[in-house]
Amino acid sequence: MKKIVSLILSCSLLISAFLFSQTSVSAATFEDINKPEVFIKQQPRTCTLASSVMLVRRATILCDETNWKSITEESMRSTAWIEGTGLRWDFTYNGITVSHQDLPKKNKKTALIDLLKIHPEGIVAYNYGNSKQYHAIILTDYSEGVFYCADPAGSTVGRVPLESSTIKGKDQDAKIANFSYYWYVASPDLANSVCDHLHQTELKNEKPATYFEKGYTGDKVCTICKEVIEKGKQINKLSLKTPGVKYATAKKKIKVTYKKVKDATGFQVKCVNTENGNSYAKKYNTKKTVTKAITSLRGKSYKVKIRSYTKNKDTGKIVYSKWTKNKKLKV
Ligand SMILES: [Zn+2]
Repeated sequence: MKKIVSLILSCSLLISAFLFSQTSVSAATFEDINKPEVFIKQQPRTCTLASSVMLVRRATILCDETNWKSITEESMRSTAWIEGTGLRWDFTYNGITVSHQDLPKKNKKTALIDLLKIHPEGIVAYNYGNSKQYHAIILTDYSEGVFYCADPAGSTVGRVPLESSTIKGKDQDAKIANFSYYWYVASPDLANSVCDHLHQTELKNEKPATYFEKGYTGDKVCTICKEVIEKGKQINKLSLKTPGVKYATAKKKIKVTYKKVKDATGFQVKCVNTENGNSYAKKYNTKKTVTKAITSLRGKSYKVKIRSYTKNKDTGKIVYSKWTKNKKLKV
């Protein structure tokens, strides 16, 4: 009896572990599966294959796999395509099993809305001969009365409203009426992996770095559930460039030509008498390239260096660049 109880216990543990692994949430977001580069244009007469490539790519992203770019018409063709016939009814590529179904003759719109609810990766919808057209697209999602798709033909790029696709029909409803059947991802079940919604993210708390404060790249926050999907990173403070400089000497004088650097509000000169160690420092507020003279010098040999600085108007805080190399000068 004890053995049976422990057997049942370990079985239920296994089952719950299995269920847990089935419902592990994908880190991929709505933006990830709708990036323009996820979508492709077809070769001549391969609309179903091209649409399936986009379907398998999106499913792969939802599985948190990074190899989706390597999925192309060329790579999938021998698995998914029968030369001279077209796309297979069922195939498995890159661990994604794709199958096909007829659409109901009535209430196609409701059927498609329900399908998109359980297929966050989308479905490949095919107009098979209605209005003398044979063309497939991928329906990506449905939101507030609008179906979105990517069309492997035509001039539209990426995810667009179904209404702007090349599927025959004067408006969305007429286009929907022309769909005959569809391909979908039969496994894995990706509706489970995204729970009740696919995160749609926006950037929050981003802050550009300045010379005075560190910046922040911003958190990716879901607009639906407010969950922080990805924390941002700190951005280092900007650093002010060391200025360019030229020196010239004259009687009891050193002329310093400062070459301005971006965002500097001035520069500082430090001049040291190498005979007695006396030093002289001065700041000049200038945003321009200028020549300033250090005058009334009594000694003969000096070393001089300069650095740029920028001053925060509000706080008065000053940030400096590195010094230039010391220049030895005879006066
Ligand atoms: Zn969310």
